[in-house]
Amino acid sequence: MTSTLITNIGTLVTNDPSCPGLLGLVEDAAVVLDGSVVTWTGRAADAPAADQRVDAGGRALLPGFVDSHAHLVFAGDRTAEFNARMSGQSYSAGGIRTTVAATRAATDAELDANVARFVGEALRQGTTTVECKSGYGLTVADEARALRIAAAHTAETTYLGAHVVAPEFADDPAGYVDLVTGEMLDACAPHARWVDVFCEQGAFDGDQARAVLTAGIERGLTPRVHANQLSHGPGVQLAVELGAASADHCTHLTDADVAALAGSATVATLLPGAEFSTRAPYPDARRLLDAGATVALSTDCNPGSSFTSSMAFCIAVAVREMGMTPDEAVHAATAGGARALRRTDVGHISPGARADLLLLDAPSPVHLAYRPGVPLTAAVWRAGVREV
Ligand SMILES: [Zn+2]
Repeated sequence: MTSTLITNIGTLVTNDPSCPGLLGLVEDAAVVLDGSVVTWTGRAADAPAADQRVDAGGRALLPGFVDSHAHLVFAGDRTAEFNARMSGQSYSAGGIRTTVAATRAATDAELDANVARFVGEALRQGTTTVECKSGYGLTVADEARALRIAAAHTAETTYLGAHVVAPEFADDPAGYVDLVTGEMLDACAPHARWVDVFCEQGAFDGDQARAVLTAGIERGLTPRVHANQLSHGPGVQLAVELGAASADHCTHLTDADVAALAGSATVATLLPGAEFSTRAPYPDARRLLDAGATVALSTDCNPGSSFTSSMAFCIAVAVREMGMTPDEAVHAATAGGARALRRTDVGHISPGARADLLLLDAPSPVHLAYRPGVPLTAAVWRAGVREV
């Protein structure tokens, strides 16, 4: 193994609670990597020798972003739908079903290339861990295929057969839930770590969502829930009750929902790209943080409602529109995402952590919000390998 000393770091974001501030900042810092892990952090003046030396030039170094919510296994795009929506026109064509049809028609190689493209796109913007859901196949074979392909690119794979009711079951939603909790789950569970459901009017109600999540839990999957995105509903309470790692979206919350999240280990994952891309009201991160909930920020990268892979964009929007401070938003995009995936090896920079690092072309992590839309990636390491 070769050790690498990254020194002359202007501001190091450790997310280590024993260091100052929410972000555990160290000024004039250095980090040593050995193989795939971080072995030392501290003041540059105290750093040990290493085989290689990288001069950070006074820039900021932070943990690679942890994007805990993305839908990357799909084909086609929905440019026309977005254009119509942003032009004030109604658009009646298929929404998710457009993507389901294109995804089913794609070859394995086409889907694999698409996932590789978006994982690479995210990596070049500093994302070193990305979760990936199924949900555009909606048949036993197509959902299993989506998860098999996703698993070649990330360990964080999520079975989302319960994204919407498959078109073939439009008149028999109960039959579709039976499929999702039966034969489809059997085919998908070997390729998935998580089980998810879109609990929403027009998708799956509280009882159906409970059935889907409970069946997944019985097969060894851990739940996460698309909850309270478009309206108030039972999703958040169900997520907390079933011990979900995360309740995602959390846009429409009652006081009881906020209290439930704050009193639990379930992370509130906010996805501002979705509200941005649909001109919808943003979730109130300030309310959740003030109540004591753990907040994560993620992209929700998908071709319909949030076609961005940029965590920096989500940070900027969260600061401008959702009441988060820059420190809170950076923490949510790194340590928050790790909590939402129940990962202790990523989202922080301390000895023993996986060496997932983002060197910003800026002196401070605040620049992620202060300089929106500007490419700020100077270098990226994933598991100790320099990727950018
Ligand atoms: Zn989603």
